Amino acid sequence: MSDLRELYQQIILDHNRAPRNFKEIDEATSVANGDNPLCGDKLKVYVRVKADVIEDIGFQGSGCAISKASASLMTWTVKGKTVQEADELFGEFHSMITGKDVATDGKQLGKLAAFSGVREFPARVKCATLSWHTLRAALRDGASVVSTE
Ligand code: ZN
Repeated sequence: MSDLRELYQQIILDHNRAPRNFKEIDEATSVANGDNPLCGDKLKVYVRVKADVIEDIGFQGSGCAISKASASLMTWTVKGKTVQEADELFGEFHSMITGKDVATDGKQLGKLAAFSGVREFPARVKCATLSWHTLRAALRDGASVVSTE
């Protein structure tokens, strides 16, 4: 168990130090801004969707280690998936992180399970889900602003 916890910590540290897809992408079909005033996390998510597939995705912004690592892993995970698949992943991720999915403990989520420990810190749940809420806003409404408040 402590080995797993250590691995999870490594994943978060790694994605915080070297975030994947930390850039504006070319020909984005929608962009959304996310704001978590509770912690001061702000980010912008760019997506290019073609024929219902997330062809490319990137993000920019600043925030705490959890929000940044989560945004990095989110982009890394949903790239190449359909909009529907990304939506389902968010549902599973959200259940895991809010403690509703203790049974499977997010194991079907692969590296995203690294955030399972966040449920012990309810104040950080918004940090970990900010990028996902922002992605959802981009996919559903096009350009818009979401706030966790
Ligand atoms: Zn935060």
